[in-house]
Amino acid sequence: MFFAGLALAVAVVASGDEARLSLTSKPAHAKVFVNGYFKGFTPCTVSISSAQAAPQQYRLTLLLAGYQKWDKYLSLTAGATKTVNAQMEKLPDPLAGKTICIDPGHPSETSAGTKGPSGVTENHINWVIALKLKSALTARGANVVLTKSAENQKVTNRRRAQIANENNSDIMIRLHCDAAPNSGFTVYYPDRQGERYGVTGPAPTVINASRCAASLMYQGMKEMLTAHLAGRGIHGDSATYIGSRQGALTGSIFSQVPVLTIEMCVLTNASDEQFIVSLSGQQLMVQALQRGLETYFAEN
Ligand SMILES: [Zn+2]
Repeated sequence: MFFAGLALAVAVVASGDEARLSLTSKPAHAKVFVNGYFKGFTPCTVSISSAQAAPQQYRLTLLLAGYQKWDKYLSLTAGATKTVNAQMEKLPDPLAGKTICIDPGHPSETSAGTKGPSGVTENHINWVIALKLKSALTARGANVVLTKSAENQKVTNRRRAQIANENNSDIMIRLHCDAAPNSGFTVYYPDRQGERYGVTGPAPTVINASRCAASLMYQGMKEMLTAHLAGRGIHGDSATYIGSRQGALTGSIFSQVPVLTIEMCVLTNASDEQFIVSLSGQQLMVQALQRGLETYFAEN
């Protein structure tokens, strides 16, 4: 008997004092809780030793990332097995309908970018990851705007910000690779206003939104990259070389939307370089950036 995606049936009447719950869910691997206590992952059979001869109410909860919480009260009786097949209801993708400006760093008026020990250029890595991220985000229903149309196209940092603004982007993420003595990824955001070409920016609302985005982006990336790439923390633009002189990076000063600069790895570090040139490393980085973005958009 099926109703509203939920089938309840007393399948087997077994002897003994325990009640049993035979659980499946679509999709599988949902976390199972009975009266708030974690019992395992679907599919599974759960024994309820507190069950009585008279039917009693138990609260069954299933949790699965990306799906609505599934919650039902069931009556269970000692010695009986109840079968539950739960149809999980998908939550809307937090990335669907968002406009995301991806800015593959370099070449710009300031720099052509760094290089790895084996000779791979930052410009190339930024471009490759940007294209892969674009196709992944597009497949999830996001509108993606790129600030360049070819790998070696020179675009000024001011123009990059204007492209994000003109497209009413919900966020601008600037992809870079660092030159540094250590290893790992870093997220930068404008922590104060700066000045460039006589313009002061970004607006305080953009600074606040960027701070929030930096924290959630870093958290999401860290979840995916743990065990592969270290996190070097969240820092203000004012901690960068150009930011320390101008107050913020040029691309941040002209941005009217939340803006992050992501140093995806330290390209001058040989093991980081090996990670980011490998297909598996690139795939993981694209997943990490998506996780960061979805963590931000789930709350904003
Ligand atoms: Zn760079």
